[in-house]
Amino acid sequence: MTIANQKGGVGKTTSAVNLAASLSMHGQRVLVVDLDPQGNASTALATEHRAGAPSIYQVLVEDLPLESIVTEVPDMPGLFCAPATLDLAGAEIELVPMVGRETRLKRAFAAFESKMNFDYILIDCPPSLGLLTVNAMAAAQEVLIPIQCEYYALEGLTQLLQNVELVRAHLNQTLTVSTILLTMYDGRTRLASQVAEEVRSHFGATVLDAVIPRSVRVSEAPSYGQSVMTYDPGSSGAMAYMEAAREMAYRGAAVADA
Ligand code: ADP
Ligand code: MG
Repeated sequence: MTIANQKGGVGKTTSAVNLAASLSMHGQRVLVVDLDPQGNASTALATEHRAGAPSIYQVLVEDLPLESIVTEVPDMPGLFCAPATLDLAGAEIELVPMVGRETRLKRAFAAFESKMNFDYILIDCPPSLGLLTVNAMAAAQEVLIPIQCEYYALEGLTQLLQNVELVRAHLNQTLTVSTILLTMYDGRTRLASQVAEEVRSHFGATVLDAVIPRSVRVSEAPSYGQSVMTYDPGSSGAMAYMEAAREMAYRGAAVADA
């Protein structure tokens, strides 16, 4: 599942990390692939990502096998991270002349999936619609779009959905926008509830019932290399992410039964 939105600061990384942690706490084997040169997901998952360290960059550009960079997250059984380093900033350009530049990640997954047996792979995208995000979409079955409950929330969404369509038409027929997650909801403002209502009326059942509240605990957790569920399990943010993960797992199970 690819977590994408070309806007920065909407909660992509926070959602990737906390949904992955929640799913692993439900007993699932989960991999987070960090595809943002900033490496915020790697930091939040306490995974080494100095420049030059083995990372998703070498997988995409130098054909290093994915399993050689996947590491288990400390104190989180079943949760794994494929880290990103600043080297990845160059990949956006280095990939351009390569054969199959849009499907490098897809190829890496194909060689890897049977070996590691993950229940979920969550890909954290950079804030752009460039080649890295295209690689993420080409490699995934589903797209999850986090939407921040603020003004301009829907700005850029048309473009994002068009890109999903293009990837589906040319690279990956199975791709769907399966999930929309409302993030940073501030219950005290009318604007937040208006945005949430607008998104629900547009996207219907694609939107998870669970809404992630704006919460200081959510923003503090990564600096301790923790998910909010381990940092403060009783907090509103932790409970909301657990609930969102439960809904996702339930939907996944329903699809598998169908
Ligand atoms: P993106 O990956 O889309 O750029 P992030 O997940 O990094 O966005 O979130 C942007 C900033 O907002 C970060 O500083 C993060 O800690 C903070 N943040 C994300 N979700 C919440 C939330 N529910 N409550 C409070 N702060 C949040
Ligand atoms: Mg991010």
